[in-house]
Amino acid sequence: MRKDVPLSIQTIFSVREIQAEADRLRSAGKRIGVVPTMGYLHEGHLSLIRRAKELADVVITTIFVNPTQFSVGEDFESYPRDLDADNLRAGEAGADVVFCPDRREMYPEGYLTYVEVETVTSILEGAFRPTHFRGVTTVVAKLFGLTKPHVAVFGQKDAQQAFVVRKMVSDLNMDVEIHVEPTVREPDGLAMSSRNVYLNRAERTAAASLYAALIFAEKQIQDGERSVEKLSGEMKKMISDAGATAIDYIACVEPDTFTPVEAIHPPRILILLAVRFGATRLIDNISVTFS
Ligand code: AMP
Repeated sequence: MRKDVPLSIQTIFSVREIQAEADRLRSAGKRIGVVPTMGYLHEGHLSLIRRAKELADVVITTIFVNPTQFSVGEDFESYPRDLDADNLRAGEAGADVVFCPDRREMYPEGYLTYVEVETVTSILEGAFRPTHFRGVTTVVAKLFGLTKPHVAVFGQKDAQQAFVVRKMVSDLNMDVEIHVEPTVREPDGLAMSSRNVYLNRAERTAAASLYAALIFAEKQIQDGERSVEKLSGEMKKMISDAGATAIDYIACVEPDTFTPVEAIHPPRILILLAVRFGATRLIDNISVTFS
């Protein structure tokens, strides 16, 4: 551990210790906020930690590159990791505890239990990453069980994930308040992501087309466009012309149900996309409110 990590931050590696700490905090009457992450923290993650600090007395940031949400052939092994820097950043943003278990701590030999939200997990991200959300809901359920939070903060960047987590919490009557916070972006609009470090210079430049296309779509909707086919066609062209390798999907969904729509209706629509630049797969979305 680096020496410049704030003294006040507590780093916990074991399940037994985090449960004991959560029990201790609850007994002391503290309101616990949790921010689950896979680490390599950037401003997007830090904005969630700061928000959690406003909503709770004590903030636990979890850092765990969760193997069950990666499919074979995805970037689990190469996913960027820097625990020392993460501890420092999390502490500066207001986290009191960093929980960073290893794989065996979370999934010991003989582990057999999974949490699965149906239907909504098989479209969009779920269509391209079939076991992804099962891994997400399983790890989030486990992290809630371990950290015993009153409130948990997620990013709108992963809009489908936030929707699925809300559904799990509601369906399983979990007593955790879910907050979803806006996407933090680079100056050119690219959504911050731990995976942005994979992009080479040309890909990084091209990736700015994602936000440009989302903003373009927003303007078209405000100007009266209602056809998803027309909008997604124009967005595809912008993104392809910029140099994307593949467009996995561009879709519009009804935000309260996550149902894909073909015609856009007021008062609100969520436009989501997943695009590859070289070997790097990026996702982004925008919520458009209109009348
Ligand atoms: P990750 O480490 O990518 O699993 O993300 C952990 C949490 O941070 C999730 O709730 C994400 O939605 C959120 N997050 C990731 N990127 C951003 C961003 N650019 N702005 C806000 N939240 C983000």
